[in-house]
Amino acid sequence: PAVRAQTPPVATRRKSRRLMVGSVPVGGDAPVSVQSMTTTPTADVNATLQQIAQLTAAGCQIVRVAVPSQDDADALPQIARKSQIPVIADIHFQPKYVFAAIDAGCAAVRVNPGNIKKFDDKVGEIARAARDAGVPIRIGVNAGSLDKRLLAKYGRPTAEALVESALWECSLFEEHDFRDIKISVKHHDPVVMIQAYRMLAERCDYPLHLGVTEAGPAFQGTIKSAVAFGALLAEGIGDTIRVSLSAPPVEEVKVGIAILEALGLRERGLEIVSCPSCGRAQVDVYTLAEEVSAGLKGFPVPLRVAVMGCVVNGPGEAREADLGVASGNGKGQIFVKGQVIKTVPESQIVETLIEEAMRIAEEMGVE
Ligand code: SF4
Repeated sequence: PAVRAQTPPVATRRKSRRLMVGSVPVGGDAPVSVQSMTTTPTADVNATLQQIAQLTAAGCQIVRVAVPSQDDADALPQIARKSQIPVIADIHFQPKYVFAAIDAGCAAVRVNPGNIKKFDDKVGEIARAARDAGVPIRIGVNAGSLDKRLLAKYGRPTAEALVESALWECSLFEEHDFRDIKISVKHHDPVVMIQAYRMLAERCDYPLHLGVTEAGPAFQGTIKSAVAFGALLAEGIGDTIRVSLSAPPVEEVKVGIAILEALGLRERGLEIVSCPSCGRAQVDVYTLAEEVSAGLKGFPVPLRVAVMGCVVNGPGEAREADLGVASGNGKGQIFVKGQVIKTVPESQIVETLIEEAMRIAEEMGVE
């Protein structure tokens, strides 16, 4: 088995109620789940199911689909039935689609109180239908569509305003004794978003769906989400995450999973510990790290592989990893589970590491 030292958990999780989104538990002690949203027109059942299949293959655990029209609502039964992962219907403006989504067998419904006019009158009916079907509701407040009353009260979508909006909507459901709720309070600014979730975490025990909304193109959105989710998850706050990127949704899932792995909230898959290289490097570390990553892509065993440019930190890091190389003088010292097993010429470093990785997998009984 791998020899990686067990890192203690990053934080004690905030205690939240647990609910089920179809087969996926959210909240309580359930692992933090990764979700995304389709970009296809929901009414195009085949395209949507195809995208859901891609998301599932990338590790997405829950998928949300937008329901802006009757055609989209009509597509829900087929999508909910054929999707491999639970489907959440995302409803703005039209409460009637909430009922359609529940009837269609969706695993949950997301409503945005700021965008559903006369929503308050319908809460009792929605609570009853959701309870009868065992369907949780996400109250999804967004800075861009904050309830007009709160916008007038606070002047802009502050953290307090987002939280007040969410808790107000919760109180309407609570009046009908419905508590199968999770909440999001999204803002494009990670600082406001972090403040809002901290506040919310103190003021309720509902599970929290983390998101930085309109986070931007891939690079910026990745950084914003990683910083905001990282800060919150490191305080134990957050039960499910959605990274929003102006990029294909599979990328959102990859980033979401990588954030959880980085925080040790999910078992890391292949982890390459490679140095940034510097003036002391005696090999081309970038190429070596890339070749090792490519050679071990999709490797079935979680493995930490150290690829180090010289003997300064090389042997230390290589010893801590399951497998590693410390380079120097045109040679690579190969480490397995802390022991130097051989020294090979530079040209054989990559193939030797891959061979040794295969051997470790075999020893673990994984083909
Ligand atoms: Fe530089 Fe060596 Fe550290 Fe790599 S391991 S960054 S080459 S000192």
